[in-house]
Amino acid sequence: MKTKVAIIGAGPSGLLLGQLLHKYGIDNVILEARTPEYVLGRIRAGVLEQGMVDMLHEAGAAERMDREGHVHEGFTLSFNGREERIDLKELTGGKTVMVYGQTEVTRDLMDARKAAVAVTVYEAENVQLHDFYSDKPRVTFTKDGEECTLECDYIAGCDGFHGVSRKSAPADKIKCFERVYPFGWLGVLSRTRPVAPELIYANHERGFALCSMRNDHLSRYYVQCSLDDKVEDWSDERFWNELKARLPEHVAARLETGPSIEKSIAPLRSFVAEPMQFGRMFLVGDAAHIVPPTGAKGLNLAASDVHTLSTVLRKRYESGDENVLAQYSELALRRIWKAERFSWWMTSLLHKFGDDPFTQRIQLADLDYFTNSEAGRRTIAENYVGLPYEKVH
Ligand code: FAD
Repeated sequence: MKTKVAIIGAGPSGLLLGQLLHKYGIDNVILEARTPEYVLGRIRAGVLEQGMVDMLHEAGAAERMDREGHVHEGFTLSFNGREERIDLKELTGGKTVMVYGQTEVTRDLMDARKAAVAVTVYEAENVQLHDFYSDKPRVTFTKDGEECTLECDYIAGCDGFHGVSRKSAPADKIKCFERVYPFGWLGVLSRTRPVAPELIYANHERGFALCSMRNDHLSRYYVQCSLDDKVEDWSDERFWNELKARLPEHVAARLETGPSIEKSIAPLRSFVAEPMQFGRMFLVGDAAHIVPPTGAKGLNLAASDVHTLSTVLRKRYESGDENVLAQYSELALRRIWKAERFSWWMTSLLHKFGDDPFTQRIQLADLDYFTNSEAGRRTIAENYVGLPYEKVH
């Protein structure tokens, strides 16, 4: 097999990159380790920045999102008996976010790829990257027991945090930065009406809580939990009681509860790998960086990487000048570190870090300071809706 760009991974990064490259007339093949059903079964992100919404339009995969997604103009911070709304639209000169689940984004991109008759190899086993420091990179894999080789010009590693691409980078050429947090998020999806029309982020002495949603009949709630907790430790009843205890009383009183249809625990981590280019291999999305989900940035960062990489690849094929590719890593990392900062800050501000009363008072002072000042609220809003994409030269 031969293609211009071999894409490893059919998560949102790989599918979006593949679709944009296809639109630009750049042939690509996606190799995915799992089945489509498995990929679609992962309940993850749900808040899309305008930049990602625009890219889904460009990729021709936005029709259902336009119909079924919900535009949100603000969210609420709850702390110390107060509720402070961050008016995203007013504070950012009209910017908003779109609530539309990652599962739906993935499904729409899969459908668009199918319609484009572009090749995706699912259940590709033992994927290995070769010779990406030469001008003839190759990817080998096994499909249905048969050894296969995909020759290409470039490799895009879109295979998530546990994928093979980052691990293929030479150890002396990659540097990783990491912070692991001493707690996790227990998430529950339920077929219930969301408790509020906008997201509520709660700082509470019992720990953090988040009220989110996928649509008018599907709610997504989270509570901060111990890293030692197992999903089995949390009956639905225990989860609902804990969530109610961390919300303002009048919100808890109207919380509609019901059986969970998905329940999972996610650890929280900040991680960045530098650089993101190794010869003719590029890292994209979670393969290169992870943020704790508190700022709703993981999926959106994957999208901004795709924006930068698809733009430099387009310029490279239009001009024939390979030097344009060299800016990818620096441009992507500039935006990534700012999102890492915001996600770390929101996490530090809203979670319970042990019983130290000094830390708790500092959090409340920070929340009071930022929400009482227009500059403070604007800083939160600007970061939440997403900082501008870096300009490609
Ligand atoms: P992934 O979605 O991880 O996709 C990588 C793909 O590569 C997968 O399909 C995988 O099967 C495939 N793959 C892996 N290894 C190989 C291999 N060796 N060969 C071939 N294919 C391979 N972000 C938010 O913004 N908000 C949230 O609320 C949020 N919640 C999250 C909850 C959880 C539990 C997790 C894990 C993440 C969450 N995120 C959230 C982050 C967000 O989901 C990710 O940032 C996003 O999925 C990144 O997309 P990606 O395509 O880069 O990676």
